Order: sequence, then structure tokens, then C-alpha cells
Amino acid sequence: MASKYEKRIKGARPLPFLTRYLTGPADSLSPARIAEYQKAALREVVTRAYKNSSFYQEKMNKAGIKPQDISKVADLAKMPFTTKAELRGNPWALLACDKKDISLIHVSTGTTGGEQIYIMYTWKDLYLHDLAPEYPKLFDIDPGDICFNALPHEMSSAGLSFHKVFIDGCQATAIPAGKGGAYSTPEKSIKLMQDLQPNVIMTTPSYSMTLAEVARESNLDPQSLPLKKMWLTGEGCSPAFRTRVEKIWGTKANFYYGSLEAGVIGIECDAHTGYHITQGHSLVEIVEPKTGEVLQPGEIGEIVVTSLLRFDTPLIRYRTQDLGYIDPDPCQCGISFPRLFMRGRAVDEVVVKGVNFSPFYLEEFLMRLPEVGNWYHFVVKEGNNESLKIRTELADGVKPTLELADKLASKMEFSLGIPCEFEFVSKLPRPQSKTIRVVRQ
Ligand SMILES: [Zn+2]
Repeated sequence: MASKYEKRIKGARPLPFLTRYLTGPADSLSPARIAEYQKAALREVVTRAYKNSSFYQEKMNKAGIKPQDISKVADLAKMPFTTKAELRGNPWALLACDKKDISLIHVSTGTTGGEQIYIMYTWKDLYLHDLAPEYPKLFDIDPGDICFNALPHEMSSAGLSFHKVFIDGCQATAIPAGKGGAYSTPEKSIKLMQDLQPNVIMTTPSYSMTLAEVARESNLDPQSLPLKKMWLTGEGCSPAFRTRVEKIWGTKANFYYGSLEAGVIGIECDAHTGYHITQGHSLVEIVEPKTGEVLQPGEIGEIVVTSLLRFDTPLIRYRTQDLGYIDPDPCQCGISFPRLFMRGRAVDEVVVKGVNFSPFYLEEFLMRLPEVGNWYHFVVKEGNNESLKIRTELADGVKPTLELADKLASKMEFSLGIPCEFEFVSKLPRPQSKTIRVVRQ
């Protein structure tokens, strides 16, 4: 009598179009082959969504669309959008399979407010489909690599998603270190690093700084680790902050862009010139946020993602509320996937003297000042501000003086063209969840 596990493995066959079109690693396929693959995947996703999901069937009927109307990628623009509002408080909205076939349910972190969003996977979508396209050039993790996964593993999809990718996708070694969970402290994480000598670290930009501080206190030189790459995700940072991270850890740090709802969307190559869109997994459109019209390459708009490998809980034309634009020109790294450039969300912007600033833009100039430490807050009020108040720690060994505050303020004013004032503090709180850079009073 075969066990449940044996039965599952024996019956495990990915959908036939995957083996037909993915004849090699996805990041080595020609653009023509990728286009064929995407067309086949889209048809499969739409046909199954219409057949198996009342959510999509109702939306498509309302829009007067039948699955046969979607025969090429450009037809995707005919399909209705899926929004966060439709998923909030409606756990089973995307279900297109028997409920008992769901293997995994992830929940949103709650950092953007509102009712929670649940994203579910069947075992087939989770393993057979999601792991089918590989990106060995973009995400160069191999058997033998020891991957230190310092992302939250509970109440967030981040940690477990990479856990699966490291073990089952890359066949590497995973250490589920977490990021401040029940048994996860920075001190324990550094001990694990000392003992196990990982060569890959996956974490957020701010937590990489927390770990580096604790490493120094524990007499671990971050640069003594045999690191080949650090991967950053979960929150953004400015190029100048990333340069600090790379210097401290003595390794290259690349960003990985994904979300709970859509999974992987883009991965940075070593050139650090935008995210290569992971075209094996996602179809990315840029739309005008108000009209929903599809925009041309180079035009900034809302990032809309269609998952090409979710058949049992399909995600079609999902509005991420993130802003960005696509550059289809070739990248110096040789990977042909177009590149996605992110633009911050309007709600995160800081307004000073009637001018809107992205916090990352402000951070870029702040982090270029060597006297400034790695932890700071922009203290502003809602609406317009007369000046930018920067509350910050100073770099090791730098003395807080009024002269220094004046000097740094005038440097920032020169870069930004707005009045700035500095307040020095000895230590800001170290966040365990998403880091806070803008404090609104
Ligand atoms: Zn590249």
C-alpha cells in the first residue's frame, strides 16, 4: 500500500506546456521562446480561471470576455483588474480548486493596514509549477551554498518562500534564522553565522544593519564570512544605503522584488540597473493608475502583475499599487528579460516647501554624508512642511556638536534645495518589523 507521500509524488506531473516551452533555464531562453511560453501560460491560466473560479467567471462575464478572446499576450488588456480591495476580508476569493487541495495559506503582514489578504497554494502550484522556471544567472545559488534566511517565517510569506526556493529550487542548504520571531534574536543569529559560516544572506536592508551591529558586539567581523552574495528584499533603500551595506559585509547586495500576492516579480542582476522581470513567473504591465490604460515602455504607472504559474488560485491583472516603469533595452549583464524600475508610492512622500520628495531620494543624500550613522528618522507633519527635520545617530567616533549640525544641514540644503535641521541622538530604536524612516507627527 503506497503512502500518501508516494501517491503524491507518483502522480506529480506539471502541466504539459511547461515542459514543452521551458527547454532550459528561463533566463537563458531567447525572447521569442519566452514570448511563446508566456502566451501558452496566459491561455492556460485564463481558461482554467474561467472554468473553475466563480470570482473570475463573474468578472469576465460582466466584461463580456470569454477565454477564447485571450489568444495573445496583448489581449490581456481586455481582462478586468483584480484589486487588493477584492481580496481583503474574503479569504477564499481566488479559489479555483477543491478546498481540501490547498496546501499552504499565507497571510499579509498588515503593514499597509486594512483587512488581511490570504494567498493560498495547492501542492502542485507550489512545487510543480512555481519551481519549473529557473534563473541560475539571475539568482546564482547552487548546491553547497549555505543560505542564511533572516526573513520572517511566520505571519509573512517571505521566509518560507525563500526556504522552498533554496531547498527545492536551488538544492542549496537553508538556515531558517528568521527575523525576530519567538526564538530568533540578532544575537542568536550571529552565533549561527559564526558556527555555520553561511555564504549567502537573505534579509532586509535595515535588518542587515542590525545584524552587523550585533556581529561587531559579538566580535564577529562581518567580512570574515565567506559571503558570495547578500540578497535584500521586503523593504527598499537608497543606492547610498546599499553601498554602506555592501561595504560593511564585504559582498555584493542585490535586491529581489516580490509580494505576498504575486510572488516573485523581478530580480536585480549585479549591474544594479533595475529588476529583471522574472518572465517565467509573471507578466508585468504598467497602467495609468486612474484610467487603467496600458502604458508604453518608459512611462511611469502602476505595476500590474499576472501570475503565469498559479492555476488553482489564479491571480490575473493584480494591481500592486506600486509605481514603476519598464525599460526593454538590453542590460550589460546579457540577460534579455526587460527591466523594471520602481518609483515610491505617493503616500510615502514627504512634502517640504510644497515639493514632494521620496524618502529614498532624501536618504540618498543623507547616507552620502560620512558623519551620519545608519539609523535616522525624517520627522515631518502631514501635508506641507517648512523644513526637513532629520533626527539621526552619528557614525562611530563622531562627536555631536552644534557646528556639525549646521554643517550637515547646509550640505543637505545644498543637495535638496530645501531648509534642513539636524537633531543628534545616541541611539534610535531598532525595529523588528518593517523599518520606519519617516515619522509623521
Ligand atoms: Zn542585467
